[in-house]
Order: sequence, then structure tokens, then C-alpha cells
Amino acid sequence: MKSSAVWYPFTQHALEPAMRRIVGTEGVYLVDEDGASILDAISSWWVITHGHRHPTIMEAIRRATETYDQIIFAEYTHAPAEDLARGLIEIAPPGLAHVFYSDSGSTAVEVALKMALGFFHNSGQPRSRICVLEHGYHGDTIGTMSAGERGVFNAAYAPLLFAVDRLPFPEPGREQATLDAFEQACASGDVAALLIEPLLLGAGGMKSYPASVLSELKRIAERHGSLLIADEVMTGWGRTGRLFACEQAGIAPDILCTSKGLTGGALPLAATLCTSEIFEAHLSVDRRKTFFHSSSYTANPIACAAALANLAVWRQEPVGARIETLVARQRRHLARFADDPRFGDVRQIGTIAALDLTVPSGGYLAEVGPQLRAFFRKRGLLIRPLGNVIYLMPPYCVTDADLGRAYDAIDEAASLFGAGQL
Ligand SMILES: *Cc1c(COP(=O)(O)O)cnc(C)c1O
Repeated sequence: MKSSAVWYPFTQHALEPAMRRIVGTEGVYLVDEDGASILDAISSWWVITHGHRHPTIMEAIRRATETYDQIIFAEYTHAPAEDLARGLIEIAPPGLAHVFYSDSGSTAVEVALKMALGFFHNSGQPRSRICVLEHGYHGDTIGTMSAGERGVFNAAYAPLLFAVDRLPFPEPGREQATLDAFEQACASGDVAALLIEPLLLGAGGMKSYPASVLSELKRIAERHGSLLIADEVMTGWGRTGRLFACEQAGIAPDILCTSKGLTGGALPLAATLCTSEIFEAHLSVDRRKTFFHSSSYTANPIACAAALANLAVWRQEPVGARIETLVARQRRHLARFADDPRFGDVRQIGTIAALDLTVPSGGYLAEVGPQLRAFFRKRGLLIRPLGNVIYLMPPYCVTDADLGRAYDAIDEAASLFGAGQL
């Protein structure tokens, strides 16, 4: 490929084709320099919820830039951050009372882990064990990699990663094993928190589990005085059918992490919400109990204004109805593969559809991944399978015709690249 000064993420520069240059975005499309439209069927890595450049959000950003740039967020504050915090508390699961800002999903989770350990430390009963779910993904910083699934992605850094307790994924029929493992870990009395993606493990392969498992895990945590951290970085903002996936399990987490769709995907921003108990454990005339965390761009006012506009979109537009329509369309399109031997585990959770292409060897590095990507790219579709797991997570404005086009391409790809075709 033509050499570039940029080192791209999750990109093997020795193997990848040249980057395609995007010159604009609109609704569900990316437009490249040749004027070709590309259907963004994965919401630009899961961030764009309503569609690219939603006018309300773009206008809010424009207006905010007339008044603000970055403002130090200690000693000084600003309306966008204050208003957004109030707005988030209003719509979040009950019990969450305070909002801590950062800039990405990874930092939102790091903040959550620090809040959990700080809570126990400041309460004079230190606890440090973190439980996670097998196949989980929580980000790419050292702390979040520690909590995530180990594998080829983090093998080089393993010596730096801290140990966590991994609960077996609640496979159908084996849910009790997950609950038993958590109960057993909690019995030690040292579990600070269970960090978990509610209902759906995204990067781990779009693996879903029943809401009842989540509500049972919450009950176990409560019984043992452990905290539950909901990593809603991907599941939040309607992806699973409700605003937050926790709602589907009827649980209120002690800490909730949100990022990707927080600004509708327009600007980087993250928030970690927590209960008043956790906040108050850090409230003291003893300065050592301060929550020692910050990043330079904490609560960037322009990003907060974009998030406020996103809240307005949710209030003013029929977002719920759009999501319901998308859920129904995904179900209808997906049905054509229900008994198709070329696929396994055809599944849907809310607006997200996923299916495993049957191949001789799966896994994230399965050779079929890049082949599928190249195939979809030629069809004008942005679809990036996780190994042999093909999934569609489009913005909510996608039309049925565009969705159908993505499914037609998946059908064609399966015949070209599925088992027996290579
Ligand atoms: C994407 C993701 C993260 C990390 O978010 P970044 O903004 O990429 O740091 C964390 N948790 C989950 C569940 C995610 O899907």
C-alpha cells in the first residue's frame, strides 16, 4: 500500500489494501473521494446511532463552538456538563446519582474500576478482586485489557495485565455454572465488583445471554456486598432495543459506563455513572479520600453539547419507534438464514443481527475475515466480521432496501467463502 505517516488501529499494514479516503458522511452512508456511497452497516465501529451528521447534533456542535473550546474541569464548570449530568441521571436506571466524565469507553471502564476499589478502600474494608465474564471486552488500555478476554490481541502485554476472576460464559443450558462460579468467588468476601457487558458481549463475538442471568448475578453481588459495573459502552443508546440493556434485566447497576452512542457518535465523550453510596465514600474532609482521576479533555463542552443534543433527539423524535422498526426488519431479513446450513447460531439482540459463517477454522484470525471484508467493500458495504462472525449493527435510519442489500451480499458471500467453497 502507498506509505502513510499514519499507524492505523487494528490494521496489519503489511497485508491490508490501501485505505479508502472518505470525504463526507450522510445518514447511513460514507462517501469516498470517487463519489461512491458506502453503506455503514456497523455504525462506524458502533458509535453512530441515529445516522451520520444528525442535523440537531451538528447544529448544537456549531453553536457550542461559538462560545466554548476546552475548559479546565476542576474549580470551574460549565452548563453543558451540568445539564448533561442531570439529563443522564434522569434517563439512567434508578439509583445512579453522579456522573464522572472521560473521553472513551476504555477510560469510562478504568474510571469504574477505580471507583469500585476506591469505594472499598475509603470505607476501610479494602477489596480488590474483579470478576468478569469469559469472552468479555472492555477496551484496549492495560486495565481494560486485563479485564477482557486474553488472546492474540494482548499476548505481548500479558506480563503487565492484572489477574481477574473469569466466570464461564452462560451458554444455553449452562447458565447455572456462571451463577455458581460467581457465588463461589463472592464467598471469599474480597470481590469488589463484577464488570460485565449486559445481555450482549460485542467484540467477544456478538454473544448474547438471557436477561435473567444478569438479574441473578446482580442479586448475588448484592448479597455479598459486591458492586455490579455495567459496561454499556456498546449496548447503550438503544442497540439492544431499550435505552440501556440493564432495563431489560430490570436491574440497576452500581456503576454504569457509557460512551459510543452518548453523542450520537459525533464526538468522543464518555460518562461513568455511580450511586450516591460510591460518591459519598469519596466525600470526606480527609483529602486522601479524593477520587484521583482526570484526563485533560474531561467534559469537553462541545462534546457535552453534542450529547445534550442527542438527549434532545431521543426526547423529540420517535427514536423508539425507529428502533422497533429496525428490530422487526432485522428479524424478517435474518429469517431467511434460520435453517441455512451455511450459517450457525443465527441470532438477534435488539437492533443487532449476527450469524456465524460455517468455515473449517473459525476464530478472530480466521482467514475468511479479511476475504469477507474485501468482498463487502467491493459491494459498497462497510461490514467487518469478527473472524467468521458476520454482524449488522446499522444506524437506526437505515432503510429496508439498504438492509436488504446487506443481507443479499451476506447470502452471496456465504456461497463464495463458506465451508466447502474454499
Ligand atoms: C468499544 C467498547 C469499549 C471501549 O471503548 P473505546 O471508546 O474504544 O475505548 C469498552 N467496552 C465495550 C463493551 C465496548 O464495546
